[in-house]
Amino acid sequence: MPARRCLLTAIILSAAARHAIAEPPSPPRIAVFDLQATGGKGVRIEGLVRGLKALGWHVETVADLTLLSLGECDIVYLSDVHSPGNVTPDWRTNIEAYVKAGGSVLQTWHHHILGHISTGIRRVYGSRAMSIVPGHPCSAGLKDFDAVFKDHIVEKVGEGGTVLLRNAFGDPVAVAGTIGKGKVVSTGLALAIPHGNATAPPRGAEIALLQTWLRWLTPNVSGSERLKALVHGPQLEVSPTESLVAAGFPRTFTVRVASAQKPPPPVYCDDRRIDTPPSGAGEEAFRTLQAKIGTPPRTNLDAVHRIHARIDDKELSKEIRLRSLWAEPVPNEKRGVWLHVGTDRHPRDVMPELKRLGINMAVLRIAGGTAAFYASKVQDDIQDPLAKEGGDWLAEAVKYADANGVELHPYVNNCVVEGRTSKESFEALKKAGRLQQDPGGRILGWFCPSQEENIKAIERPMIEIASRYAVAGIQYDFIRYPSAQGCFCPKCRALFEKETKQPVADWPEDVGKAGARYLEWVEFRCRRVSTIVERVSKAIRRVNPRIKISAAVFSGWPTCRESNGQDWVRWCHEGWLDFVCPMTYTQDPVQYTDLTAAHRKALPEGFPVLQGIGIQSGAGAMNDPAQVALHIVLARQAGAMGWVGFCYKPKHTTTLFEPLRSWMTDGK
Ligand SMILES: [Zn+2]
Repeated sequence: MPARRCLLTAIILSAAARHAIAEPPSPPRIAVFDLQATGGKGVRIEGLVRGLKALGWHVETVADLTLLSLGECDIVYLSDVHSPGNVTPDWRTNIEAYVKAGGSVLQTWHHHILGHISTGIRRVYGSRAMSIVPGHPCSAGLKDFDAVFKDHIVEKVGEGGTVLLRNAFGDPVAVAGTIGKGKVVSTGLALAIPHGNATAPPRGAEIALLQTWLRWLTPNVSGSERLKALVHGPQLEVSPTESLVAAGFPRTFTVRVASAQKPPPPVYCDDRRIDTPPSGAGEEAFRTLQAKIGTPPRTNLDAVHRIHARIDDKELSKEIRLRSLWAEPVPNEKRGVWLHVGTDRHPRDVMPELKRLGINMAVLRIAGGTAAFYASKVQDDIQDPLAKEGGDWLAEAVKYADANGVELHPYVNNCVVEGRTSKESFEALKKAGRLQQDPGGRILGWFCPSQEENIKAIERPMIEIASRYAVAGIQYDFIRYPSAQGCFCPKCRALFEKETKQPVADWPEDVGKAGARYLEWVEFRCRRVSTIVERVSKAIRRVNPRIKISAAVFSGWPTCRESNGQDWVRWCHEGWLDFVCPMTYTQDPVQYTDLTAAHRKALPEGFPVLQGIGIQSGAGAMNDPAQVALHIVLARQAGAMGWVGFCYKPKHTTTLFEPLRSWMTDGK
């Protein structure tokens, strides 16, 4: 049949016709991969997108990595894609096919694909100097510079890669090359990621670098040629291919269809037509549809749905797995938020708002380092917004929490000093040798935990809060080392040698990761922090036996013992805590499931856990109430007695929790 033989040609011609109109020679369509939308691992992209737009580029975001979505993009920008999250399993081969067909990829900071050009292999800390390697169009007109972020990642150059940049040690940091008809630039620079943890508009030398690279990456192959190479006949793609949802909530899947059939063929999810209103005599060869699938309430269900269409006598079909989850709340479930002191969130307004939203617990940051956000008599730096009128934020919080049936648990940033102290206090602490030192002797803005004066400084506000205020509980936070970098001060060395009864021959190498005494050092650091918790908790129980003591702790157990000296499971076993709040901040429900299960397994049977949920955290913002609901159900399934969202923001929290009010509290 001539019509059938012509089908592929028709698709191609249709695509070509569309792109002949829609595709001006410049600027290219840059698609930044949106890790937050897929629950992937990597930093938020908002700042980068804003910055690229400000530089005049045509930027959009893409959340699936199917051939049909990639084919549309001229340059795919993968910013810090540790792992892409919930995308199609064949995303790697799709990207390779897209590049071979003439598409471009820019990948920055952490990146692990397209090894023919290069992949990131090793992080270098605290070294910014970069030199341009001339000879490639991507180096033209650029000058040596200092990277905006202090760290970078070194590249392993593949056989198709040409080095563009080297660090101070001569290691490659950026590499360009071609695969098939497409172009790739890979760099371990944290480009537009000024602190390594979130994107911001590019600045300084980054601007010229990006402009030059993006100009080179602009494809020579037109969109229509690319699609011609990628799309062989009719095609149906679905993203994601599996998903989790809290029972009773719907989930929407993206369906992409390539077909030259006229009129376009109907597309179904199971027996329901999803291309509604049916597109009559549409000309589009490529269509993007949404399949919204509902789930029954209060039921655990693992269902497979079929997206299908009959195109040119060929039945195309893709399966979607949708698991809906449910768990009953425990009686008197704790539903909390972490909260900061601020003039836009007076307890008079916040506490009734929390009550209205069905939130029955407020964990309020009230002190840290040498600062107090209440009328403290023991802290040096009073930063209470009510201090001028002689007020006391904590007293107000107690009053309004009580009036609204909200449990109040103030918390203190215990070991950290920087950002929670006046300049004068900081200088005084530094001069007195009370701050931590890194292996090179540089000062870290944290209390050294080997000094009695510092332990007293950590203890004082905790005791004051527990004894002077009628609060339900008190919580430790930042009760740890900043990283593996502290503390290497002479006092810590002396105490380590005393406790282990053995001098360190080669300091600090022997206690470093490759050193002979590293394991002893890990235990020593855990002991320092645990000693503080034991002492402070016992003192709190003496002044207020009824108060509930808790801690906000790292969710990566047991790695936080080694990385931060935070041995929190021990604190629960010893009875120094009444409950624990792991800061399980991730947008990825699968990771959340794994972490919460690991916490339950590590803790004594029945020990109360309140799971942290990152509603607006370093792991990004949740903007869909269904996402919060899913994390609440997962926390319940992992045996939690409740959950605490980090952190309260006046409008955001209301938008997120208002629709969940009756779902959360079972109508009560
Ligand atoms: Zn020290």
